Amino acid sequence: MALFSASPPLHDPLAPPAGTDDQATTVKCTTCYMCACRCGIRVHLREGENGPEVRYIDGNPDHPINKGVICAKGSSGIMKQVSPARLTQPLRRKPGAERGAGEFEPISWEETFALLTERLSRIRATDPKKFALFTGRDQMQALTGLFARQFGTPNYAAHGGFCSVNMAAGMIYTVGGSFWEFGGPDLDRAKLFVMIGTAEDHHSNPLKIALSAFKRRGGRFISINPVRTGYSAIADEWIPIKPGTDGALFMALMHELIKHDRIDRPFLQRFTNAPQLVVLDEGEREGLFAFDPDPAKGPPGDGRNPHNKLVWDSVSGQVMAAYPEGIADGRSPALTGTYTLANGTRVAPAFQLLTEQVALCTPEWAQAITGINADRIRALAMEIGDTALKQAFELPIAWTDAWGKTHPTTIGRPVAFHAMRGLAAHSNGFQTVRSLAVMMSLLGTIDAPGGFRHKAPYPRHIVPNYRAFSDPEQVKPNTPLNAAPLGFPASPAELALNPDGSPIRIDHAFSWEHPLSAHGMMHNVITNAVKADPYRLDTLMIFMANMAWNSTMNTMAVREMLNRRGDDGEYQIPFLVVCDAFQSEMVAYADLVLPDTTYLERHDVMSMLDRPISEFDGPVDSVRVPVVPPLGQCKPFQEVLIELASRLKFPAFTGADGGRKFKDYPDFVVNFQPQPGIGFLMGWRGETGTEHLRGAPNPKQWEMYEKNGCVFQYHLHEDQQYMRNWNQSYLDFAKEKGWRQKNDPVQLAIYSDVLQLFRLAAQGKTAGRQPPEHLRERITTYFDPLPFWYPPLESTCTDLDAYPLNAITQRPMAMYHSWDSQNAWLRQIHSHNYLHVNPVTALAAGIADGGWCWVESRWGKVRCMVRHSEAVEPGTVWTWNAIGKASGAWQLDPGADESRKGFLLNHLISEELPLTDGDGRSAGTISNSDPITGQAGWYDVRVRIRPAEPEEPEETFPQVAAPPPAPGVLGRAQKVLTYFAGRKTR
Ligand code: SF4
Repeated sequence: MALFSASPPLHDPLAPPAGTDDQATTVKCTTCYMCACRCGIRVHLREGENGPEVRYIDGNPDHPINKGVICAKGSSGIMKQVSPARLTQPLRRKPGAERGAGEFEPISWEETFALLTERLSRIRATDPKKFALFTGRDQMQALTGLFARQFGTPNYAAHGGFCSVNMAAGMIYTVGGSFWEFGGPDLDRAKLFVMIGTAEDHHSNPLKIALSAFKRRGGRFISINPVRTGYSAIADEWIPIKPGTDGALFMALMHELIKHDRIDRPFLQRFTNAPQLVVLDEGEREGLFAFDPDPAKGPPGDGRNPHNKLVWDSVSGQVMAAYPEGIADGRSPALTGTYTLANGTRVAPAFQLLTEQVALCTPEWAQAITGINADRIRALAMEIGDTALKQAFELPIAWTDAWGKTHPTTIGRPVAFHAMRGLAAHSNGFQTVRSLAVMMSLLGTIDAPGGFRHKAPYPRHIVPNYRAFSDPEQVKPNTPLNAAPLGFPASPAELALNPDGSPIRIDHAFSWEHPLSAHGMMHNVITNAVKADPYRLDTLMIFMANMAWNSTMNTMAVREMLNRRGDDGEYQIPFLVVCDAFQSEMVAYADLVLPDTTYLERHDVMSMLDRPISEFDGPVDSVRVPVVPPLGQCKPFQEVLIELASRLKFPAFTGADGGRKFKDYPDFVVNFQPQPGIGFLMGWRGETGTEHLRGAPNPKQWEMYEKNGCVFQYHLHEDQQYMRNWNQSYLDFAKEKGWRQKNDPVQLAIYSDVLQLFRLAAQGKTAGRQPPEHLRERITTYFDPLPFWYPPLESTCTDLDAYPLNAITQRPMAMYHSWDSQNAWLRQIHSHNYLHVNPVTALAAGIADGGWCWVESRWGKVRCMVRHSEAVEPGTVWTWNAIGKASGAWQLDPGADESRKGFLLNHLISEELPLTDGDGRSAGTISNSDPITGQAGWYDVRVRIRPAEPEEPEETFPQVAAPPPAPGVLGRAQKVLTYFAGRKTR
């Protein structure tokens, strides 16, 4: 750092721009990407010796997401531009050099494209599934997914499978939407905010702004988390909980809410499947909804689930169609009891089964699991229930539901929840998130003022009408797939299986191992590819994912796997292409390196086709535009894909004349239309840019976004902003604008017949696809149609006396992934991490504050420094993630704190767990993931701690050899912008 400060400054901050007499600074708006919140920023530029240079970055006050607020990360984007680790030219592994040695030679882009085109066309013309494309935290899955589909490979996914697919799938399969991009807490109208399993967030600045206003208005904020960090700092109350036990808390809360009748019965009767009758008799219909077989009865089907199910009307004492008869005036669908249909079938309302499911989940039961006192659980349930029901309010907004009833007001339920990876990153996360979503539904908070609010294009159908590719016959040479590689299965028939039941995909997503893996399973790719399970790949392309360090479990073994050769002497993964802006740990393992740009050097879209930045009151999309030219030969990965897609002559990228259809990525964004009038961007459409949401391509669309701060916001009419699962005006509008395929209502799935379909198959009660014998018990257990809690899988195969502690990571507020722990400004906040341990636990183990210790799991060990902290419950140890780095990576000094004192918890986590069949016999291994969605179980590891020996070196373990600098890497800046209280320094 001293060297940095001593360097001559890049600019004299008080001098006019070079070569002019003008003091003015140019300001360009774009969208931040120092984390995934995607705030609006203003980049202040001055002309330097070699063109425009970034002077500083501040928040865009006119942007709807952050309203001018900027965080430490956002303002430090300037240091990302001048990172010493920046790659500047394409590189090829030197002939004869070993992977991992980091020995490269420069190669031109033309050679790069020729090499890739030759290799990829050969794969595409023979066996397209031998090409796999996996991406990290990218913002263009609509393009990367399209590329894979057009290539004809099912082997594609982004990082969701190892991030938060449990959050997405658990909520979407229950309420049709999810937290963060797709929905969130309405803190403008909430009175009680319960945050669970969240520290710092994907929605950072907006949530901080909302929390600030909420607290000023007198709102009460309860944080439930094993660790009190991040937003919890301003919570009115912190309730410590043991990791992986949140589901038990929700089950006990539901037990209490039902017991004390703190539930919204009219809401459950009309807007959820709670009153719908479930078959109790054994057989192929067991556990499924009874329904009127006459398709003419009842309204049209909701997606793949018919609506013509049955309810028991307790007024007339008759069974009838749930809609519209069951909700007609004067009817009252029963929520409890058991009944017999005319044909003798025994049935019960779904809510009755939920009541039975939570009957034994008492606060005392939950206390033993969560560590939260039973009385506190009881009081929390009453506080939540009373706030939702007794402090309810009405907004004077009339709306009409899908069955034609006009509600004169909109009822507010002022209890808002927020949850994220703390719930999701466990192998019991799907059912935990589902239990939260069902609990929120019991309270009537779904898309209600003050509760959970959707963001367009959500809510989706339950199950969303996006089927993942599933037909092995459709993997054909030179042919696009007949469906997107990712989607939402609704039954065993939609799994991606070969006729013998084996997985179609290299990551085993959508197989019997993890049937609802809606985001793929990136964390399995390298292990499976090296084992050639189910087949050997030819080429693996990785974009922006540090799979040789912090983006992988079992890090040292995976590094060895990346280098492993088969009996034929060839690498098990024959060709590895890595695209990244920086010399991360992963780059050393590449056969071909593609230097990406930073977010300030490229076009990007935050699209309604992908991951928009919508607000509660309507859709919002935004763009990035280049504010500085690319460094060296850096090229945006988007451009690389457009170029390759054009050279490979993918149908969607080839014109009628056989020539390329799109000049470049901006041209693709403007002109690609998956449906007429629907494109990547919804603002300023139509030939003259006067149409919004839907319209013909506009050749000047990028300019119009640029003129408008790079963002487009649309406000829905007031009567379309709430209750959107059932709000007919909204549903019609959403269909018209292409956000939904149908305008059907989205009934909340208190009971999931989708899960039951998988369970019935596993029990051998249905015809059709059956799981392999060794997975029958697993599917029967976990595919419970009602939420339930079970211990994380790792703890069921670990000696808990030997490894008594839970170990988890959290994201520091000042950093996002590994990008930021190499940022010169942000390194001044954290240059290394500690293991945070409650003093009681640390002292019992004989470890002093600041002392060195060993942390051991059954999979590995790390040596690190300890910090005593009372902000962590005694059974948990935790650390920041992605600060510890491999020696020499990211162009940090070999003696840098990040590699000598910083450490990575991933060394303690296995990507696989032992698998046993229903009889307890060993059945090999299986991914360390949620058995339903394949979400990586990052937070399940169990550890023990002991002091390091006095003679041991005071540095972290393990250490790795530093690779040489990649050719052309930017290296330490000769000139650095420095400010010291307004004075320039030298
Ligand atoms: S919260 Fe994220 S997107 Fe917003 S300014 Fe900070 S780093 Fe940028």
